[in-house]
Amino acid sequence: MRLAGHPTTAEGDKARTVERTAKLVDRIGELQELLYAEHERKVLIILQGMDTSGKDGTVRKVLRETSPQGVRVVSFKKPSEVELDHDYLWRVHAQVPGRGELVVFNRSHYEDVLVVRVHSLVPKIVWKKRYDHINAFERMLADEGTTILKFFLHISREEQRERLQARLDDPTKRWKFEHGDLAERRLWDDYMRAYEEVLEKTSTDWAPWTIVPADRKFMRDFLVAGAVVKALEKLKMQYPDPPDVEGVIVE
Ligand code: AMP
Ligand code: MG
Repeated sequence: MRLAGHPTTAEGDKARTVERTAKLVDRIGELQELLYAEHERKVLIILQGMDTSGKDGTVRKVLRETSPQGVRVVSFKKPSEVELDHDYLWRVHAQVPGRGELVVFNRSHYEDVLVVRVHSLVPKIVWKKRYDHINAFERMLADEGTTILKFFLHISREEQRERLQARLDDPTKRWKFEHGDLAERRLWDDYMRAYEEVLEKTSTDWAPWTIVPADRKFMRDFLVAGAVVKALEKLKMQYPDPPDVEGVIVE
């Protein structure tokens, strides 16, 4: 698996794509309402990608027609002391969707084989075993009724340079900049290697990865929204049986 062989840009006319995305996003709104009403399935969307790859933007755009009731976005940051006292899936399992819920992980347990590997936060003998744990964990969630969609937002190193620079230049974006971002950027190749192994080892029938060419934001939104609609429609969800309203009249 070589990420260098996967394009970071996708072709598409902007105006037409934005229009099509709007329809998909509306449809996600309808399907999420149905998910909530049915109160049966569980949906988990995992977003991973390098700094500035568009994880926050994807959440904002793709979920803009959903109801905050029934949707939860969980951002996984550096683990706290208490979290570090537990196994790495402990904090993650606590956040998985319940019935009727759509949960988005902005970063996830995959950080435990990405940043943790690149910075040797635990020895190789420890992180090496995690691909198997993760596959088994996701398998368990799937067996128990969770639909899992995983997106790797694939940007080029040059695109990241531009976006980080934009973060520095734009006072409304500057808050997102961290000095550590530049140190991480220098480790680009190490991250690509870590991502390649993730994509190779944890793309399963029950929790597949989609590599999203993400240099053009409108294409990224279109591709993610399309995949979400497709997965939700496949569930063939139904509104629950209404109570017996035969002869009931509102006075
Ligand atoms: P951001 O997504 O910009 O808010 O940054 C969150 C930071 O938390 C990133 O630098 C992640 O690499 C880091 N992070 C998330 N999960 C972990 C983890 N399990 N171990 C270490 N760092 C993590
Ligand atoms: Mg950041």
